[in-house]
Amino acid sequence: MSNDIAAGLYIHVPFCIRKCPYCDFYSVTDRSLISDWLTAFRQEVSLYEGRFSSFDSLYIGGGTPTLLNGSQVTAVMESLWSTVSLLPDSEITLETNPDDLTQENLALYRQAGVNRVSVGAQSFHDEELRYLRRRHTARQTKQALSMIRAAGFDNVSVDLMYGIPGQTEDSWIKSLECALSFDPEHLSCYQLTIGEGTVYGEMAAQGRMVPLEEEKERRFFLLTSELLTERGYLHYEVSNFARSESYFSRHNRKYWQHVPYLGLGPSAHSFLNSTRWWNTRSVTEYCQRLAQGGSPLAGEETLSEEQYFLEALYLGLRTREGIDKTLATGHDCILDQLQSAGLVRVTEERIIPTREGLLVADSLPLLFTN
Ligand code: SF4
Repeated sequence: MSNDIAAGLYIHVPFCIRKCPYCDFYSVTDRSLISDWLTAFRQEVSLYEGRFSSFDSLYIGGGTPTLLNGSQVTAVMESLWSTVSLLPDSEITLETNPDDLTQENLALYRQAGVNRVSVGAQSFHDEELRYLRRRHTARQTKQALSMIRAAGFDNVSVDLMYGIPGQTEDSWIKSLECALSFDPEHLSCYQLTIGEGTVYGEMAAQGRMVPLEEEKERRFFLLTSELLTERGYLHYEVSNFARSESYFSRHNRKYWQHVPYLGLGPSAHSFLNSTRWWNTRSVTEYCQRLAQGGSPLAGEETLSEEQYFLEALYLGLRTREGIDKTLATGHDCILDQLQSAGLVRVTEERIIPTREGLLVADSLPLLFTN
């Protein structure tokens, strides 16, 4: 199993100090497992020696990767450098929680090779952060962003969230403005989703929490896109904005374009040659299986042509790169309707969603499959 295209590498660090009520990413709060995870991670990396030709992006996510100290991140990087081919100009992103950052660990992360920092700010209002049960305050995020700049990072992404109960358009604009005052190269603006299996999901099922109304959803989305575009950001994917093309997330674009990627760690997913496979979610099982010389795989699927086509539509229509026109062959009538409704723009080779199109991106592919 090898491939000539530079792939993306994802590492799932499955630890958090406590669980946020909206989060459905896999993580545990027992940090005594970190050293076993690190040992198992090294074993898992070695399973992939020679299976991907090279990587030009690495994303260390989770969970809360900043629960690893500088020397643990260095240990992760050393096992990668010695086992897989991480190209010299790779984009290396570390997901961070504002209250974990210090000048010392930032310097060590940088020394270890991290060149892009993603900051989980979510909001610059303490009452909203308390609602989300985040550990940090707005003040800590501002301090973290200043420290990140002082540490010399020149590629910074800020995560923000809208649709938080009690949040107004005014408070959202203030959060955006506060983030913008640090001139981030990239912003990810997500709507709070209420997923099954989360605390908020249970509350919603019991009628104790009401999801955002569609009209409000629409207003937050359009407001965000208009404001950030006015400030010179490119709205290049439903939730993502960059100061220029060079700051588009190289790593995430691999997911959106069916470029191969390898995911390491509990619950991580990988993709190569139309085949997707994934690891067991349980960190203890992950560690046990690798300690016994086994594999942490939990499942695998090979996409049929039809599944691949459908995914290409779903993923492509969420981005401003859109989809190849040939994917819509035989659907001229639908295409005309979407153009007249202002949802897509059609060029000689591509079908590109407009801002209004991005707003309904998830429902567009269905029109091409009937
Ligand atoms: S949102 Fe982040 S910090 Fe909160 S539980 Fe999920 S992974 Fe952990």
